[in-house]
Amino acid sequence: MRAPYREILDRIRLAFPQPTSDRVHDSYVVHSIMRALDQVDALKSEVPILGKSGPIDFESVRTHWQALKPSTIEEVTAELVRFLDGMPIFGHPRSQANVVPPSSIASIIGVLLASLYNPNLTSDEFSERVAVAEVEACAIAAQLVGYNPNSAAGVFTFGGTATALYGVKIGLEKACPGAMADGTPPNVVLCGSDTSHYCRYTAAGWLGIGTKNLISVPSRPDNAIDLKELERSCRQALDQGKRLACLIATLGTTDAFGLDDLAGMAALRDQLVRDYDLPYTPHLHADAVIGWAWSVFKDYDIEENPLGFRRRTVRALAGVCRHIRHLHLADSIGIDFHKTGFAPYISSLILVRDQHDFALLRRHAEQMPYLYHHGDYHPGTFTLETSRAGTGVLAAWANLRLFGKEGMQATLGHLVEMAQLLREHLEGHQATAVLNRDNFGTVTLFRVYPPNVDTFAIKEHEFEDPAHRDSLRQHNAYNRRVYEYVHREASAGRGVMISLTDCYRHTAYGEPIVALKTYILSPFVDEQHIEVVVQKVLEAREQIDAG
Ligand SMILES: *Cc1c(COP(=O)(O)O)cnc(C)c1O
Repeated sequence: MRAPYREILDRIRLAFPQPTSDRVHDSYVVHSIMRALDQVDALKSEVPILGKSGPIDFESVRTHWQALKPSTIEEVTAELVRFLDGMPIFGHPRSQANVVPPSSIASIIGVLLASLYNPNLTSDEFSERVAVAEVEACAIAAQLVGYNPNSAAGVFTFGGTATALYGVKIGLEKACPGAMADGTPPNVVLCGSDTSHYCRYTAAGWLGIGTKNLISVPSRPDNAIDLKELERSCRQALDQGKRLACLIATLGTTDAFGLDDLAGMAALRDQLVRDYDLPYTPHLHADAVIGWAWSVFKDYDIEENPLGFRRRTVRALAGVCRHIRHLHLADSIGIDFHKTGFAPYISSLILVRDQHDFALLRRHAEQMPYLYHHGDYHPGTFTLETSRAGTGVLAAWANLRLFGKEGMQATLGHLVEMAQLLREHLEGHQATAVLNRDNFGTVTLFRVYPPNVDTFAIKEHEFEDPAHRDSLRQHNAYNRRVYEYVHREASAGRGVMISLTDCYRHTAYGEPIVALKTYILSPFVDEQHIEVVVQKVLEAREQIDAG
């Protein structure tokens, strides 16, 4: 007699892709995926949200989860799809809320294949040629940012935050040789601008440097680091006998696409080494998780403009390239394919100009007795992770191949063109003021003002002069109300999802400046969706002013 468990096992086996060729079962696998897609399709509408978003009662979820009995794939699928209820559709043309792209089909297939066969990039012993895809994606990316692919190296890791963590850790080992074994000494500092990403706090905290030893250098009104202030901070720290673990340059700040002067920072770093006769070279990390993609325009012929962008767009692209073309001066670079590379989460790459930098992180072989006996590729000997998925690698590789340079140029160029169009519209109205005018990304931060405000003079008054503190605060509240109106309308299928930032930056006297934000990352956005944004914002103003 068959043991009863065998019945259950038979069913479970059917719930796996079959290990040997079984075309009939393959179509069952595909059909199961189709069924899920079908159910998701029923959640789509004109609203850039799947189904309906609404308040979530996490408390009741904690107490009312379901009993753990077996279900069929069909049952599980239906329940999985329910979790997408309320999800924003980032690829929707009526979605301009944040730096989240839709995923291309090629990148989804990359993720799917990696999920099906489960390569582990800790070693080629467990990933075979998926490891080749990692090496190749790194080489292509290195070439793109201007590194020599023969001496550069890279690994995919768990987010842009992790790329910064790598940069700072490498810098820490350079400034304090042996920190891995001895621990982080108390006299280490780390510098980045006050508009750089908060992952600098994560790095400082988790690496034992301490967030108190993080120097947030003031940025200029164009959101780039103030080089003079950076120099002052570095010299002060060195005068006090501190060590500079890392200078973080941001190329493309999260909110306003501010671009630091990387060449200036590299020159300053070299000058400091000479002036102080430093026994180490402070590490320069470029947080280019957003800005890296503009590298595809480095050799674009601005005058010829073969892709036919509008002149203003071409100027904007050239404005970004002025900074991006210096990326190769950084010792390491963070790249997010899940931001401006149209790949699903997580697909982040840390590139180092000199592959020997990774050796600073290497563990001793005797600490890892069970791994790395076979094969030739063992990034797991120095990566922070042990198991490392192939999903991000295959997604990134797929998109590099799918887009090619021209595809990226056309897509990014279109997004910038749409952002430029939005700026033109906004600047054509008396009631609105664009805040990040000097930045040329696909993100636009702006404020709306009530009637009778001189929007030409207001920025200078409110942002510089403490006498206008009350007016700034009132207009912060006003912009929140505009946001709430636009958001309500978009949720009802009228208009476009945009977002709000509580602090675009601080005024000269320390008040946060609230701003409306549109982040255009969907290739489906077109002129009519830009016009609706402006229309809805002006409509909000009328509604508020009418009381
Ligand atoms: C998003 C972002 C990060 C963090 O990246 P994750 O991939 O979300 O971890 C770091 N730096 C900048 C400038 C970012 O915009």
